[in-house]
Amino acid sequence: MTQGQSRQAEILVVGGGIIGCATALALARRGHTVRILERAEPGGLATHAAAGILGPMNETDRPGPFLDLMRQSLALYPDFVSGLIEETGLSPDLALDGILAVAPRASDRALLERRLAWQRPIDPSVTLLSAPEARALEPSLTGDFDSALWYPKEGHVFAPRLIKALLGALSRRSVPLEQGVTVSRIERNPSGTLSVTDQAGNVREAQAVVLAAGAALSAIDIPGPPVRIHPVNGQILAVRSPGSFYRRVVFYPPHGYFVPKKDGTVVIGATEERIGARTRVTPAGLLEFLAPLAPIAPEILGHPLHHTWSGLRPCSEDALPVLGPLAACPGLFVAGGHYRNGILLAPVTGEILADMVTGLATPMARAFSPERFGRPSPEQFF
Ligand SMILES: Cc1cc2nc3c(=O)[nH]c(=O)nc-3n(C[C@H](O)[C@H](O)[C@H](O)COP(=O)(O)OP(=O)(O)OC[C@H]3O[C@@H](n4cnc5c(N)ncnc54)[C@H](O)[C@@H]3O)c2cc1C
Repeated sequence: MTQGQSRQAEILVVGGGIIGCATALALARRGHTVRILERAEPGGLATHAAAGILGPMNETDRPGPFLDLMRQSLALYPDFVSGLIEETGLSPDLALDGILAVAPRASDRALLERRLAWQRPIDPSVTLLSAPEARALEPSLTGDFDSALWYPKEGHVFAPRLIKALLGALSRRSVPLEQGVTVSRIERNPSGTLSVTDQAGNVREAQAVVLAAGAALSAIDIPGPPVRIHPVNGQILAVRSPGSFYRRVVFYPPHGYFVPKKDGTVVIGATEERIGARTRVTPAGLLEFLAPLAPIAPEILGHPLHHTWSGLRPCSEDALPVLGPLAACPGLFVAGGHYRNGILLAPVTGEILADMVTGLATPMARAFSPERFGRPSPEQFF
C-alpha cells in the first residue's frame, strides 16, 4: 500500500498475539471482514514465551469480576480448542488434568487454608491434600513439603501451538495478516471511520479498530488519554525430562511453577521484572525460581537444560485486563493488559470484543473498562 492510499472500511486488529488472533477469529466467525496488522512475528512479544497455565484460582486472592472472567474463559477452553482442531487439524495439547499449589512448610499451610475457605464455596472440587496425597498425584514431588491445594479442573495448553492453530484457522477463513506493519497512530475521521497510520506513512481506513498490541500498546498514538500498559519481563526455561515422571502443573512459593509438556519437556518459571521494553535472561533470574524448587522436587535440577527464554507481559495500572471501547474515539476498542493470564483469557476476550464491536451488551466486561483509569467509580473496582 502506498502513502495516503485508503482501502475499503473493515475491522482492523492491531497486534497478532494470542489476544489479537482470538479476537479476529471470533469476529470472522460472526461474518465480519477483519484484518490483522502485525509489526513482527505474531505473538513474538509475550505469547510464544508463555508457560500456558490455565489456572484461575492461583491468580487472584479474592472472588470478584477478575476470577469470574478467568473461570469463564477456562470453561470456554475445551470448545475453543476442539473448534481449532476441527478447522486446522492442529492440536495445542490442552491438558485439564489438575494443578497443585504446594505449601513447603507447616507455616505456609495457613495461606492455603485461607484460600480454601473462600475458594471451596466457588468450586467444591478444590481440596487441601497432605504431602503423601499430593505425591500420589505428582510423583516428582519427592522432597519435603507440608501440604498442597488441589485444583482438579485446571491445567495447561502449549501456547506456541495454540497460536499456530489460531493462525491456521484465520488463514482458512481468509483473514489477512499483514506482517511488517507497525501501527503508530489512530484518528477518527469526520465521516465516522477510523484512520490507522503505520510507521511507513501508509493510512488504512477502518470501520472499527481493536488495539491488541500487548506490552507495546501504549506506544500507539490515540485520541484522548493514553492507555497505560507497561512491560514486565519474565525469564523462564525448559528441561528435558525422562519418561512421564512429571504429570501436573505445580505452583510453589514465592511465585514459581513447573509445567510438564507432552513433548517431554518441563517448563519452569518465571521472574517478574520491570526493566522497560527489553527482555533478558540472567543466572540470577533463573536462580530466583530454581532455588526454591530444589527442596520440593530435587530431581528436576538434574535434567538437561533444553532452552531458556524471556517475554514481556502486558501489565495495566491495576494489573487487570483492559477491555472495551474508548470514549474519546468511538469505534476504537482496547483488548490489552492481560499480564500473567493472556493465554487463559484469550477465548473469553475474543468473545467479549466481538460482542462489543457488534454492539451487544457485555456486562461481564464492565469492571475492565479502559475508562476506569480516567474516571474511576468505586463500583468498578473490587
Ligand atoms: C514468561 C511468561 C510466562 C507466561 N505464562 C503464562 C501462563 O502460564 N498462562 C497465561 O495465561 N499467560 C501467561 N503469560 C502471559 C501471556 O503470555 C500474555 O498475557 C499474552 O501472551 C498477551 O497476549 P497479547 O496478544 O496481548 O500480547 P503479545 O503476545 O505480546 O502480542 C502482541 C502483538 O502485537 C504486536 N505489536 C505490538 N505493537 C504493534 C504495533 N504498533 N503495530 C502492529 N503490531 C504490534 C507484537 O509484535 C505482538 O505480536 C506469560 C507471559 C510470560 C512472558
